Amino acid sequence: MYDSIVVGAGPSGGSASYHLAKRGRSVLLLEKESLPRYKPCGGALSPIIQEWFDFDFSPAVSLKLNKINYTWQMGSPEMVEIATKEPVWMVRRDIFDHYLVQQAQKLGVELRDRTNVNGIEWKSDRWLVKTDNDVFEAKYLIAADGAKGQMSKWLGFKEPKRRKGVMLEVKADLSQQVGQNLFADKLNSNFDFGSMQNGFVWSFPKADGYSIGSTTFMGNEKQDLFEICSTYVNHVGLEKAEVEQSEHPICLWNGNQSLHTQNALLTGETACILDPFTAEGIRPSLFTGMLAGQAIDEAIAGNADALKQYTLKVHEEWGADMAWSQRIAGIFYRVPSFGYKMGMKRPSATQRMGKILCGEMRYRDVAGAAINRLTKGLIPGMG
Ligand SMILES: Cc1cc2nc3c(=O)[nH]c(=O)nc-3n(C[C@H](O)[C@H](O)[C@H](O)COP(=O)(O)OP(=O)(O)OC[C@H]3O[C@@H](n4cnc5c(N)ncnc54)[C@H](O)[C@@H]3O)c2cc1C
Repeated sequence: MYDSIVVGAGPSGGSASYHLAKRGRSVLLLEKESLPRYKPCGGALSPIIQEWFDFDFSPAVSLKLNKINYTWQMGSPEMVEIATKEPVWMVRRDIFDHYLVQQAQKLGVELRDRTNVNGIEWKSDRWLVKTDNDVFEAKYLIAADGAKGQMSKWLGFKEPKRRKGVMLEVKADLSQQVGQNLFADKLNSNFDFGSMQNGFVWSFPKADGYSIGSTTFMGNEKQDLFEICSTYVNHVGLEKAEVEQSEHPICLWNGNQSLHTQNALLTGETACILDPFTAEGIRPSLFTGMLAGQAIDEAIAGNADALKQYTLKVHEEWGADMAWSQRIAGIFYRVPSFGYKMGMKRPSATQRMGKILCGEMRYRDVAGAAINRLTKGLIPGMG
């Protein structure tokens, strides 16, 4: 019997496994895909996550950026240099996620990929985790199976709202730019607003191409996101490049919820811990994975409240900011032209957003003032 079984080898499952093993606990990590596996994702990641791990992530980082380009309806570009201590990381998720799992394996985590979990059962003092060929047993269970997973439903939590996210991987050789941290190209790290309702199109460069994607953050889900992204690809002159399309559901944060039950925790996107303004999900997945690993270690050591404390800690450390982010999103996406003017056209606002994405500031530090400014756009004559 294992101390813990972790279902899903994305950033939250990899992080939870790593932190449990670091504390000497036995871990079985189950993943239905063969690793390394592709995950539709922009791969933009705050470098602050390095502080949560004692190994170097550099081999898993494709590019680093210190400039962001904003456009309105694919025009009038606004290039902003973000004055953060560390540039934003761009990662390929197959490489990044697998690298993290490999570090966990070095600490003794047992990985079984190509292993689909198809059911779970609590039996007197342990979890039975059923796969297509075996049944495994553990004292604790971590649900890290992401937005497509069933674990949270099987554990008795309510079904999350799933929105559609789309991704176009556009092949291009950007390898000369690796290590330069300098991007003057309009394609690089672009957020385009106004070309779609209730969301935006983004383009994040990697050494071998651009990840161009979009999702909606509220309301209208009937837009053809592939069409919108394809128009963007043509507009920026990449119509001849090789393109691979994919889609993946996305579970935005929508209020604090309990994240623990009988000897089990939800982490990452299974816990809907995804920024409702920006769709940032990798950093909170790594963070909740770390906290979950710590909580289960404490529970095994005899702290009867450890799992409940996990829920409270995630609410305090992340949920409080997500509530601010949701308020900003609710106003911004309702009147995006005004939001764009107040947010993306003002250098101080873009600097703050860069610092939030890099983990150097929290929404709570800036949200009050931002909401005041944005609210003016909703009052006739004030915008
Ligand atoms: C189009 C798009 C773009 C995005 N861009 C960004 C971005 O630029 N930056 C950012 O921070 N976030 C981004 N996100 C969000 C980010 O990708 C997710 O929040 C993040 O992957 C969640 O990590 P996770 O570990 O919780 O789940 P996942 O990464 O989804 O991992 C879950 C794992 O569980 C496995 N699994 C599922 N079911 C089972 C099962 N039954 N048995 C075994 N294994 C199972 C899956 O195969 C998968 O490997 C984006 C999301 C989308 C959809």
